[in-house]
Amino acid sequence: MKKLLLIVLAVMMAGGAYAQKIVGLSSKARAGEAAANSTYVNAVRKAGGVPVVIPMTTDDRQIDAILNVIDALIMTGGEDIAPLKYFGEEPHPNLGEVVPARDAFDIKLIRKAVEKGIPVLGICRGVQVMNVAFGGTLYQDIPTQLPTYAIQHSQDAPGSEGTHSITIDKNSELYKQVGKENIAVNSFHHQAVKDVAPGFKATAKSKDGCIEAIEMVKNPKVWGVQFHPEHLVNGDNAENFIGIFKALLQ
Ligand code: MN
Repeated sequence: MKKLLLIVLAVMMAGGAYAQKIVGLSSKARAGEAAANSTYVNAVRKAGGVPVVIPMTTDDRQIDAILNVIDALIMTGGEDIAPLKYFGEEPHPNLGEVVPARDAFDIKLIRKAVEKGIPVLGICRGVQVMNVAFGGTLYQDIPTQLPTYAIQHSQDAPGSEGTHSITIDKNSELYKQVGKENIAVNSFHHQAVKDVAPGFKATAKSKDGCIEAIEMVKNPKVWGVQFHPEHLVNGDNAENFIGIFKALLQ
């Protein structure tokens, strides 16, 4: 009997019941590096996953090979997206740094990942890339462009501190992971989703009407947040945010 149990356990383990899930992290563009902030690495590990950094490339074979080995993808935060090239708008005077190679990589990576049915979480720039990759637009500078702009979205407080509240749609992946309709989140952005991409919906907003989360209607495992849960998992309300990363491993 004992022997049988051991055999069953061995078969389950070999079959992947306890397999480690690999989460790809889109990399940032700093010259001479292929890197992602360690906060993303630590958050994935905290949730029980194995993080891998994906170096920038637009080579289809490179991207396809990586998508064949990862179980989920995080599109990480960073620079602004080229507005004329990706959503047909002239650059606003307050547009920040744009990195063309990162734009091209991110857009190709997320489109291919979604096509393959891989769960994708977009964070900050990542949710903006997600929206633009599927036909949405952005506010290039919310202080001057969001008509209802009224609260601080570029906090000076540490990233582990939530400083503005958001209201979460109960029928959303974000609500499923957080379990609350109102939470405080951090905020480090001057851009935001404007027109939500066709096939996506807004699932959270700040009090001044800024979109703070979106998800794909027919596949809610493709979703994103404007705040930074990878910092908030180190704060006082960490339990509100760890589910966002655990969701990638389900
Ligand atoms: Mn915000």
